[in-house]
Amino acid sequence: MNSILVRSGVVALASVVASLVLAVSIVPALGGTVDGNAWMMCVLCPLLIAWPASAYTFWQSDRLKSAHRELARTHAQLAAAHRRLAEKASRDDMTGMLNRETFFARLDRSRRRSDRGTLLIIDADNFKAINDNYGHLTGDEALLLIAEAIRSGVRSGDVLGRIGGEEFGAFLTGAGEQEARQVAERVRREVESISFQPKEGQMLPLTVSIGGTVCASEATVPELVRAADRLLYEAKHRGRNRVIIGKAPVSRAA
Ligand code: GH3
Ligand code: MG
Ligand code: MG
Repeated sequence: MNSILVRSGVVALASVVASLVLAVSIVPALGGTVDGNAWMMCVLCPLLIAWPASAYTFWQSDRLKSAHRELARTHAQLAAAHRRLAEKASRDDMTGMLNRETFFARLDRSRRRSDRGTLLIIDADNFKAINDNYGHLTGDEALLLIAEAIRSGVRSGDVLGRIGGEEFGAFLTGAGEQEARQVAERVRREVESISFQPKEGQMLPLTVSIGGTVCASEATVPELVRAADRLLYEAKHRGRNRVIIGKAPVSRAA
C-alpha cells in the first residue's frame, strides 16, 4: 500500500511540474498571464486527478501481478501433481515396478529405436501351491521378496515390470546373449537364495523360471514376447528354476 502511495505521489508531482511548465509556456504565448488562481489550478488539478487515478492504476497492476504469480504457482503445483499421478499410474502398486501396459510401451519405444537388448520373462514357480498352502497374504509376502530379488539381480538401467500376477518382465538394455545369460542366472540365484519362512522354523524354497530372447533389430514386441514365453515354458517343462535364453525368430516382410 505504501509503495502505491509513493509511486502515485511521484506521478502526481510529475503531473504538477508538467502542468506548471505547460502553463508558463503556453498561457503567455496566448496573451494571458499566470496569476494566483492559475498557479493553484496547476497544482491542485494534477494532485486531485493524477494522484488517485495513478494510485488506482498501480493498485490494479499490483493485483494483476500477484494474480499472475499465484496462477504460475498453481500451474507449477498442477504440473507436479500431474507428473506424480502419471508416475503412479505407470507403476504396479504392490511391487513398485512398471505395470504391464507401461512396460510394454517402453519396450515398444525401444524397438522403434532398434535398441539392442534382451527381453526376459520371469515367472515364479509353483506359486499357486504357496497360496493354497499358506494363504494369499503369505503369497503376497513371497511375491514381494521375489520382486526384490529380481531388482537386485538386474543391472541399473534395466527396465523392470510386473506383467502378470506372478510374472515379471525385464528388458536388459544393450545385453547380448552372453551378458543376458549372466544377468538372468544372477536373478535366478538371488531368488533361490531367499530364506522365506512362512511359519516359525519352516523354510519354503522360492524359485523362478526365466525365458529370454535376444532382440534382433527387426523383431517386433509380440515376436519377442512369444519367443521369450516359449523359452519360459520350456524352462518349466525341464523342471523349473532354470534359465533358457535364445534368439528371437524374425518374420521378414517381403
Ligand atoms: P508354474 O510354476 O507353472 O508357473 O506354476 P504356478 O502355480 O506359479 O502357476 P499358475 O499359473 O498355476 O498359478 C499362478 C498363481 O499365482 C495363481 C495366482 O493366485 C497367484 N498369484 C497371482 N498374482 C498374485 C498376487 O498378487 N498375490 C498372490 N498371493 N498370488 C498371486
Ligand atoms: Mg508361475
Ligand atoms: Mg504365470
